[in-house]
Amino acid sequence: MATLEIRNLHVSVEAENGPREILKGVDLTIKQGETHAVMGPNGSGKSTLAYSLAGHPKYTVTGGTVTLDGEDVLEMSVDERARAGVFLAMQYPVEVPGVSVSNFLRTSATAIRGEAPKLRTWVKEVKSAMEQLQMDPAFAERNVNEGFSGGEKKRHEILQLELLKPKIAILDETDSGLDVDALRQVSEGVNRVRETGEVGTLLITHYTRILRYIKPDFVHVFSGGRIVESGGAELADKLENEGYEAYSTKGGASA
Ligand code: ADP
Ligand code: MG
Ligand code: MG
Repeated sequence: MATLEIRNLHVSVEAENGPREILKGVDLTIKQGETHAVMGPNGSGKSTLAYSLAGHPKYTVTGGTVTLDGEDVLEMSVDERARAGVFLAMQYPVEVPGVSVSNFLRTSATAIRGEAPKLRTWVKEVKSAMEQLQMDPAFAERNVNEGFSGGEKKRHEILQLELLKPKIAILDETDSGLDVDALRQVSEGVNRVRETGEVGTLLITHYTRILRYIKPDFVHVFSGGRIVESGGAELADKLENEGYEAYSTKGGASA
């Protein structure tokens, strides 16, 4: 069973007036098979956490550790992290002009599996995953995210999740900007992957809405660059009723 352990993680970002500390001691353990919702107000550092785990060069780890089954994740390059089983669905997926979805997926799968997937089974795999996400097959030949709607971009992130089968999936606001139908399709995709029991999920969200579809095992409140409270699914109901106000002082200033 894969385990991602985040201990006392401190991360700074290079701002115009010098480095600025965003993450101020994050502690979180995610095991394969578990779903953790991390919920917090805008600007609290949720995406910074996601990017830091994926190895984005803009974020500097100034303290703490991140390990996957005891292996030092922070020492790994971005692609080593991906091969080790860490997957990030981005809040704002980027356009990749000139690269088709089909090429992108096959290249990613080849890199992560260590060999090219057999063409016949691969084509079927992609087709069936796209059908389940109700993506038009024509998307396979379109350039990655170019001209995609918000919902299409997020579905494409979940398509990658389903095909790449990571050990730890970090989903950064995969729900934001989705209409009800897209939210349900995306959630069903996450749940299909989750039901395999082989992925640990870090579901980052601002709203409790997605938690109606994806039931978390644990809920963490994120404020001022730290987790300030943890509990079960009932904590999300409390947030739904009370909002984040009560936490805004607990974690220190978020700005
Ligand atoms: P969240 O995802 O919770 O909305 P972010 O992690 O995106 O929060 O941002 C946390 C804080 O860090 C914000 O105040 C944001 O402006 C700042 N920040 C994040 N990335 C950068 C960056 N690349 N340069 C400057 N400031 C940044
Ligand atoms: Mg934000
Ligand atoms: Mg964010």
